[in-house]
Amino acid sequence: MSPRPASTARQQEVLRALGVEIWRQRARAAEQSLAGSATAAAPAAAALPEWDALRAAVRDCRRCELHRSRTQTVFGVGSQAAAWMIVGEAPGGEEDRQGEPFVGPAGQLLNEMLRAVGVGREQVFIANILKCRPPDNRDPRPEEVAACADYLAAQIRLLAPRLILAVGRIAAQNLLGQDLPVGRLRGRVHAWGAAGIPLVVTFHPAYLLRSPLEKRKAWDDLRLALSVAAPVVP
Ligand code: SF4
Repeated sequence: MSPRPASTARQQEVLRALGVEIWRQRARAAEQSLAGSATAAAPAAAALPEWDALRAAVRDCRRCELHRSRTQTVFGVGSQAAAWMIVGEAPGGEEDRQGEPFVGPAGQLLNEMLRAVGVGREQVFIANILKCRPPDNRDPRPEEVAACADYLAAQIRLLAPRLILAVGRIAAQNLLGQDLPVGRLRGRVHAWGAAGIPLVVTFHPAYLLRSPLEKRKAWDDLRLALSVAAPVVP
């Protein structure tokens, strides 16, 4: 049996792949599946060094042109022991100013949606496909998504969530590698990555603010997500 948690080896591999400096070298442990790690003991709530290194790499990133227009990067927020990871599109103006995803009216609606299933915002982890705001809130460009993809993949692997909730078309299409609309992607459980992390698609809260009649479908999506995994690790 490995003398240390398998998740630590996996986390370091992720960071090596990103070119993030590791402050200490450890022997390489046997590869274990994300699914197996996801059911392992939850990591401590305190900030983990691997997370800190990844956060620093994102903060200093200049991989794509969006670094020129950002106020700051928006890494993500929430519990590093979260069972649910929520993935949105990209920072908007308020997110760019505050450095946190899903703030403002859309963020408040997301918080309400989470409360509806009995979970606080601080109990999930929230991130975006892009860590920097596209000017004028335009859609992310493929080259920007490609440049930023390693960071989100690293976040997912470090967190090893039991469920990914993809909110909105951009998140869903990029996570699933499909170009179908949200209406065709929601309503079923997908699998992300080689480990097959369950992934449920729902509408972006900004869309729900414009189309409140769709909130019923979003509620159905959350119930589907609940049926896959409890949002809070017991
Ligand atoms: S969007 Fe992503 S890849 Fe582009 S500069 Fe920001 S952190 Fe780097």
